[in-house]
Amino acid sequence: MAYRAISGIGEFGLIDKIAALAEPTLHTVQNLITGIGDDCAVYQPSAGLLQVATTDMLVEQVHFDLLTTPLKLLGSKSISVNVSDICAMNALPRYALISIAVPASFSVEMIEALYEGMAYAATEYGVAIAGGDTSSSRSGLVISVSMIGEVSAEQLTHRSGAKPGELICVSGTLGGSAAGLKLLMREKEIMLEHIENNEPYNKSTMADLKEYSNAFQNHLSPIARLDIVRLLHSKNIRPSSMIDISDGLSSDLQHICRSSNTGALVHEGRIPIHPGTRRIAEELQDDALTWALTGGEDYQLLFTISKKEYEAIADNKDIAVIGETTDKEEGLLLSDIYGMTIDLRTVKGFDHFSS
Ligand code: ADP
Ligand code: MG
Repeated sequence: MAYRAISGIGEFGLIDKIAALAEPTLHTVQNLITGIGDDCAVYQPSAGLLQVATTDMLVEQVHFDLLTTPLKLLGSKSISVNVSDICAMNALPRYALISIAVPASFSVEMIEALYEGMAYAATEYGVAIAGGDTSSSRSGLVISVSMIGEVSAEQLTHRSGAKPGELICVSGTLGGSAAGLKLLMREKEIMLEHIENNEPYNKSTMADLKEYSNAFQNHLSPIARLDIVRLLHSKNIRPSSMIDISDGLSSDLQHICRSSNTGALVHEGRIPIHPGTRRIAEELQDDALTWALTGGEDYQLLFTISKKEYEAIADNKDIAVIGETTDKEEGLLLSDIYGMTIDLRTVKGFDHFSS
């Protein structure tokens, strides 16, 4: 198949393509007055609601490797990670502005794949892709997504509202994204070795990766927990604090405790480890619990809630109570299945600037 060079259609030709791909997302939002095609997007805020705003940048070789990342999934992930931040405020996402810097080696088809993924995810979450900016890049691909959401003052949830004696809850399962990433890195090594040795690397020489598809999915195409936010709204309950797990349970719980001035006690046996992850960890001679605590990029919601409010969601199998908030002086503790405790702060999540 022949790929078309972007230079053949130019910046405006590319933006026209992007506009066409983003067009279906515009119908998911009622309050958007002007989408792509003018100098600004125009949005009518809903009466009485507060707006929340977030932005996230994905940089090639820092956040993703195109050798192991299909562009369509990268597109949907770039939307999901922003929706996840909006969800962490207990808000609903409304519209996104997307800026991309594109290397000269990219074809029109690659940008189409990227935006197909973005438009698919945006439509699923009810987010309009309302505008953006397009530039060339002298290095890798850069995707920057900014997103606006809405929430009532009564439902708005910060990191800072936890009080001692509340329950610490987490949605879904943890560690699956790290498992997927480790497997992808292993497969990449194998592929590069084959190339180096001039051996074929194709379906017949590749390991059967089907059994890992769930872990790959978790890493390459995480789903933001908008369903949990909708559940909280429908039950009319508000967590006292909330954050999305992007850096790892350990780091993200520390953020809540620091902002709220509390301590925490987490029970190892109650941490919901992603199914399949223990086996993958064994295979790679690694530790599933460490992945769950520090792997990050699971994009689950971590929140604290009073025992009384929790009753309304107690029957939800997708929300696990993993511990309790304590007085600040008690510190951040993880108790293992034998009741021994370790300091959670010694377990580190991902930090861009530490080596
Ligand atoms: P300006 O020069 O006024 O910044 P542009 O020519 O860059 O306008 O963009 C034209 C329209 O296309 C604008 O509505 C802008 O928001 C939109 N747009 C440009 N690039 C992107 C992109 N990568 N994704 C989504 N919308 C885009
Ligand atoms: Mg512009």
